[in-house]
Amino acid sequence: MQLYNSLSHKKEDFIPNEAGKVSMYTCGPTVYHFAHIGNLRSYIMEDVLEKYLRFTGLDVKRVMNITDVGHLTSDGDTGDDKMLKGAKREHKTVMEIARFYTDAFFADCAKLNIKTPDVVVPATTYIDEFIRVISSLMDKGYAYEAGGNIYFDTSKLDKYYVFGDLSEEDLEVGVREGVEEDGNKRNKADFVLWFTKSKFDDQELKWESPWGTGYPGWHIECSCISMKNLGEYLDLHCGGIDNAFPHHTNEIAQSEAYLGHKWCNYWFHVHHLNTTNGKMSKSKGEFLTVSLLEEKGYDPLVYRYFCLLSHYRKSLVFSWENLDNAVTTFNKLVAKIAPLTQDKSGDIDKTEFDRLMAAFNDALGNDLNTAMGVTVLYDVLKSKANAATKLALISEFDKVLGLDLIKKAEAKTTPAGDSGEDIPAEVQELLEQRKAARKEKNFALADELRDKIAALGYEVKETRQGTLITKIQ
Ligand SMILES: [Zn+2]
Repeated sequence: MQLYNSLSHKKEDFIPNEAGKVSMYTCGPTVYHFAHIGNLRSYIMEDVLEKYLRFTGLDVKRVMNITDVGHLTSDGDTGDDKMLKGAKREHKTVMEIARFYTDAFFADCAKLNIKTPDVVVPATTYIDEFIRVISSLMDKGYAYEAGGNIYFDTSKLDKYYVFGDLSEEDLEVGVREGVEEDGNKRNKADFVLWFTKSKFDDQELKWESPWGTGYPGWHIECSCISMKNLGEYLDLHCGGIDNAFPHHTNEIAQSEAYLGHKWCNYWFHVHHLNTTNGKMSKSKGEFLTVSLLEEKGYDPLVYRYFCLLSHYRKSLVFSWENLDNAVTTFNKLVAKIAPLTQDKSGDIDKTEFDRLMAAFNDALGNDLNTAMGVTVLYDVLKSKANAATKLALISEFDKVLGLDLIKKAEAKTTPAGDSGEDIPAEVQELLEQRKAARKEKNFALADELRDKIAALGYEVKETRQGTLITKIQ
């Protein structure tokens, strides 16, 4: 497939280091609060990417960290400790907060059909590994001690701003955030590997290290968790676009300084979900979570569908109106698939199957063009192929799209007399009366009964396969 690589700023053929296998790393959540749906957009699109790679026959091993220590409210080294903030807010311990929001994150993922990565590592379980790598960076001269903390020395690198379009002036870290700059840093871009002299006296989680009791900076965890589980050569690293700097830039700096060679070949960044007022955040406007969507009556998978309708490298604007539009088209899509599930007989039309499968691969294989993939789904419905062929294609596409299309279509349609036990007795009775009326060619009565059935929430249709009763959603 072709994938846009943030490192080269262009679409490239995706060629893993080892034929047939992909090592894939994803930056996980900082578990101090619920994830908002903007964060989850990244995880949805990364999930589609993983599923598509598997779909093409590649053997993917995916690893993700859980940040439960070291992440400050600024992605630089300033601001408050996020975990501590969460613990204070809820009068709980940091570990209680971490456990609760880790579970909440995976519960949200499950509702959005996001597969759990093969390996998930909380940062606090890898402290020895961080210390080992930081010690090595000290030995190699890439790190220094100042004011009790250990910093990475970015001036030791040939090139620090690897993602290009950022200049040192753009990155007045500290100034930009409206907080004090760290005077211990030799260079503005240097970053903390290990905190000992911390301004957080009440830091709950601390560990012994060769540099004193303390805790790790945020960036080191991803390098260490990735290298330990996926080796020295990483194929693909994913995250939200706001992770590109400083987080991913720092990951590359420390990993390559440690390894002495190039680390990761492809960088996949998902762009922001915006509200009509700008970038979505936890602190601004309505705190949009999966639970809130559910409270308002939305199926979380409709949000997934909404995300698929836009390219991952474009900002997406969320509004309730936009989501409502997605609900309408999603329901129509499911309604179109529903009758197909009633007739699974017939052989698969191989020519049509191959043609439409190729179109789907062209779409997803072109830098994960999910919107085009959904269009191909409509092409399947419009095609002259029989139901068996269409269903086979939809079921294949849905391995990547993850929308439960066939399951939802089947739930929408319950043929009368088949699995009729799901239909309320009252409706069953009216159906029987309507059947009798039709037999007697009393169509006026049949229509009247159809309206009564509709008032109870069921739609009756005559098809070649007989009477079809569908729950109106
Ligand atoms: Zn990371």
